Amino acid sequence: MKAMILERLSSLEKEREPLVLASIPDPVPGDDEVLLRIRTCGVCHTELDEIEGRTPPPHLPVVLGHQVVGIVEATGRHVEGIQQGDRLGVAWIFSSCGRCKYCLEGNENLCNEFKATGRDANGGYAEFMTVPAASAFPIPDIFSDAEAAPLLCAGAIGYRSLKLTGLQNGQNLGLTGFGASAHLVLKITRYRFPASKIFVFARSPKEREFAMEIGAVWAGDTADSPPELLDCIIDTTPVWKPVVEAMKHLKPGGRLVINAIRKEDHDKETLLELDYPEHLWMEKEIKSVANVARSDVHEFLRLAAQIPIQPDIQEYSLEDANIALLELKNRKIRGAKVLLI
Ligand SMILES: [Zn+2]
Ligand SMILES: [Zn+2]
Repeated sequence: MKAMILERLSSLEKEREPLVLASIPDPVPGDDEVLLRIRTCGVCHTELDEIEGRTPPPHLPVVLGHQVVGIVEATGRHVEGIQQGDRLGVAWIFSSCGRCKYCLEGNENLCNEFKATGRDANGGYAEFMTVPAASAFPIPDIFSDAEAAPLLCAGAIGYRSLKLTGLQNGQNLGLTGFGASAHLVLKITRYRFPASKIFVFARSPKEREFAMEIGAVWAGDTADSPPELLDCIIDTTPVWKPVVEAMKHLKPGGRLVINAIRKEDHDKETLLELDYPEHLWMEKEIKSVANVARSDVHEFLRLAAQIPIQPDIQEYSLEDANIALLELKNRKIRGAKVLLI
């Protein structure tokens, strides 16, 4: 089959084509797995973290991509309830141990043996992939293949981030960074918490304009001060400055949730500007969000179909994956990037 593979780690500043088009053997499903003929795969910032080594794949070469929509081509002999021809999605959660405390309580995202799609196992930048049947999610009919892809990561993890903020209807939410995940969080928040006001911090005027178009009450630069203090903020930026800036704008008892698998190190010294009375005093909290549990993906897809959410997408061919990644690196973003396969 055709796949865009990652053979070695590199920096996108030096290597503008980190993925290579290759022909590799078709995968064969194990007893508990399904084989998917891939239709679309979303392009995520996490791919940059993998390519640049912040969360390196344990084995190379590997096929990246963890927002996959495909059609079941074959099933392993222990798989029940899934038929050839079903349309299923695959998210960042590929597998977990299934036995530990975290797995048993439904937080398999925190499992020590958590395996990620497109990092620890081959993902969706290819014509086919295999995945444990338990980690394949039915896609509501309302979504096209391209629309469904970004829901599987940006949407599901955005949903988990929003849950972790503990936001109540009527409380103010801040979003710092306004890419694929944040724009979906804005849409979910407007539906679930209609009395809440949403304030967006983004560096690019285009992102700020987009935020206002889809319902933010205020949008400013990362260093601007919003007109009101905020109860919770979700940070989806890859760097530290927005975190430090955002902490100033939290109310007493407020919480900042960092939705990023890794942060880049180049502005880490900004953390030294953290001023205890200004940024942390008054019981302000910083919390991270890790991966997604299966329930996040199920719940989010259901919610997205009810609202319904229509992600804004930009489409690319599989062969143009490097172009999409480079644009993501250079923050040329409006909505979510999706490969059509
Ligand atoms: Zn992702
Ligand atoms: Zn476990």
